[in-house]
Amino acid sequence: MLPRFNAELSVSELKTAGSRNFSTRHRTAQPLLFIEPTVALVGTEPVCAVPWVGGDAVKQRTIAETVSCIGTGLHSGQPVQLTLRPAPVDTGVVFTRTDRAHHTLIRMSPSAVQSTRRSTTLGYGEVTVSTVEHLCSALFGLGIDNVRADVDGPELPIMDGSAAPFVYLLRSAGLVKQPAARRVLRIQRPLEIREGDRSIRIEPARAFRVKYAVEFDHPAIGRQVFRVDAPDKEHFERELSAARTFGFLREVQSLRKAGFARGGSLANTVVLDEKQVVNAEGLRWPDEFVRHKVLDLYGDLAVLGLPIQARIKVERGGHALHHRLVEAIVDHPEAWSIEDPDSREPRGLDFVPAPAPA
Ligand SMILES: [Zn+2]
Repeated sequence: MLPRFNAELSVSELKTAGSRNFSTRHRTAQPLLFIEPTVALVGTEPVCAVPWVGGDAVKQRTIAETVSCIGTGLHSGQPVQLTLRPAPVDTGVVFTRTDRAHHTLIRMSPSAVQSTRRSTTLGYGEVTVSTVEHLCSALFGLGIDNVRADVDGPELPIMDGSAAPFVYLLRSAGLVKQPAARRVLRIQRPLEIREGDRSIRIEPARAFRVKYAVEFDHPAIGRQVFRVDAPDKEHFERELSAARTFGFLREVQSLRKAGFARGGSLANTVVLDEKQVVNAEGLRWPDEFVRHKVLDLYGDLAVLGLPIQARIKVERGGHALHHRLVEAIVDHPEAWSIEDPDSREPRGLDFVPAPAPA
């Protein structure tokens, strides 16, 4: 028998919150579960070319104001506050654990990725921050280059299990262009990783494109394919940002035993039993599953720190496979170049920027 849940937070509630600092009230329901299946998802197509968004995307962006929100940590089940602050040109995305005595900065970069089990953990030494992928996806999808993210616990709030609350937060702050061009990662030779029936491939293209396919032997999912072709930020907001994470009821116990998903519930996860979706409100799209996988792909690619000009094809992917692609890109500099409209000093992928603001 499933416990009944009250919605902890919905996008519509967020939209009517009206305040730039809002918090999600926790009506604590019994935690249920969370899961990012280790099994399959496959192919869709997103992409973004040099101009991420129309003609104005060639400039770097940050947010205009400081904004914050409070939510639950998915794995810990504890409340956590996230504050996003504007940051100067070439800062990138920098996380700070404000609950630690020393405010160690964790810069989003390929070398900061410490774990991709169930979610993405970034770290610097022993200081880590987990479940960053949906915020990173929102930043990638909206083309935001520079931001400071302060968090007072070991993981970001899960919010409603999608990136929509983060999009709302970032939109509330306002996006501003900065006086420097965005560099672009242009793929020049294909890279491909295969693991049985799972694969991920990146190849040259004139814009950012994705074809993502998932395949689950489940009546509510089956095979789903989603394509993205040179998307703008409105495409991300409209078609991807609200897609929620999902998981299977049968996996709950094993996840709990492994210490995951204490904060998981029907308010932040689409849950499937053997036959159907358990959540009373149903799905936001019939193919919400593959849309969430594309959202996760954006978040995992975001650690590269640059918009990407390439076509990406994924068959039954997940965080681990996405990160294998990121590693392959880092390991094969002959397969790409970094285009810089401002012709500044050449840089690599683990670029160390100007010092983060104090
Ligand atoms: Zn996700």
